[in-house]
Amino acid sequence: MPRNAIEVRALVKTYAASGREPAKTALRGVDLDIPAGSIFGLLGPNGAGKSTFINILAGLVTKTSGSVRIWGFDQDVNPRQSRAAIGVVPQELNIDPFFTPIDLLEVQAGLYGVPKSRRHSMEILTRVGLADKARAYPRTLSGGMRRRLLVAKAMVHAPHVLVLDEPTAGVDIELRQMLWDHVRELNAAGTTVILTTHYLEEAETMCDRIAIINHGELVACEDTPALLGRIDVKTLVVRLAVAPAVLPPMPEGVSTTLRAPDLLALRYNRHVARAIDLIGAVQAAGHEIVDLATEEPSLEQVFLELTRARSPA
Ligand code: ADP
Repeated sequence: MPRNAIEVRALVKTYAASGREPAKTALRGVDLDIPAGSIFGLLGPNGAGKSTFINILAGLVTKTSGSVRIWGFDQDVNPRQSRAAIGVVPQELNIDPFFTPIDLLEVQAGLYGVPKSRRHSMEILTRVGLADKARAYPRTLSGGMRRRLLVAKAMVHAPHVLVLDEPTAGVDIELRQMLWDHVRELNAAGTTVILTTHYLEEAETMCDRIAIINHGELVACEDTPALLGRIDVKTLVVRLAVAPAVLPPMPEGVSTTLRAPDLLALRYNRHVARAIDLIGAVQAAGHEIVDLATEEPSLEQVFLELTRARSPA
């Protein structure tokens, strides 16, 4: 196993001008390593360059310059091997209406040159919970089933790296859970998983490591806990025995809000204040505390903070 499943250097993509559209640079020199065996999240606002990045990995978009290695194979030097190492689950749920799920997987295996003796189409369908739909008409498949079928399709050539582009967009909560369970199983069995998502909380719970891209540049790439640690603001939530008539005075820099008549939310910078001092201030104002909780910053906050810092070039 290579150390990195993906190694990208100085990756630039400029889409040529067409008609009235001027040329558009979608990636401005991205360097990125994705560790083998990880579940890696690629986050960014709309238009940041995520799909461009993924489509270049998948060989669907031609890069302008830079280098891409997949599972140790340079895309320009070993295009066949690098392509064989990766499978991509696209965002759209387009499925050819003329193929049953089992046929679809067989055709896909054929496209990737997987010999008949090494195909496991039925087994793959079983793993994604579609065994009983193997010979169903595609139009009878629900959105969730289509999504799982596309995951199965991306797995027919047993790629080392699986890319999921916004996999849970428009998928209901139950199916989302099932999809994530399946992704975790694949990862536990050795597949490196890369996903893009707008569900930041999901990235937070699913991903070992997260990269944030904005206006075609990488603004952060860190292990998830370290990324969350980059934001300094925490919140201490205090429930009081008696609803206060006035808010207790707080040290400078602490903002106080009432979430309920007896529930105080104290937002503070952990480099400036300590939770223990805030508790002391509440008690010093004569209030009895009956319960306490602290809230860590969400990825949403980290994300806003990091992307707000940079405006478009
Ligand atoms: P994301 O997936 O993060 O939303 P994209 O990679 O789709 O971002 O887009 C990045 C930028 O490149 C956007 O400004 C988008 O308009 C532009 N872009 C994407 N695809 C094309 C294309 N085929 N032709 C021209 N511009 C494109």
